[in-house]
Amino acid sequence: MNEPRSGSTDGKLAINLETCTGCSLCVLACPVDVIRMDPTTAKPVITYPRDCQVCYLCEDDCPTHSISLSHDISNSRRYSTYDEFGLKV
Ligand code: SF4
Ligand code: SF4
Repeated sequence: MNEPRSGSTDGKLAINLETCTGCSLCVLACPVDVIRMDPTTAKPVITYPRDCQVCYLCEDDCPTHSISLSHDISNSRRYSTYDEFGLKV
């Protein structure tokens, strides 16, 4: 497996591996398998950043607040349910 990344290529989705405990809740939360566990390091890796739907489930579920996510409205694939319902993030 590739070296674990602390963020996506465009930096919109990032995992702080320093504070991450490897609990894997973010992996369970992600509905589109963007995040997976690296069995070598027992830490999560962002495997398919372009598939991220910006649903915030991983960020919300992380008990150590190790995931940060930011909007990129120029990328239509990053449309969020928060946008759909006019919610503030
Ligand atoms: S924001 Fe949603 S789709 Fe994107 S990585 Fe997190 S859980 Fe997966
Ligand atoms: S939910 Fe947070 S602490 Fe748990 S594996 Fe994911 S990033 Fe690490």
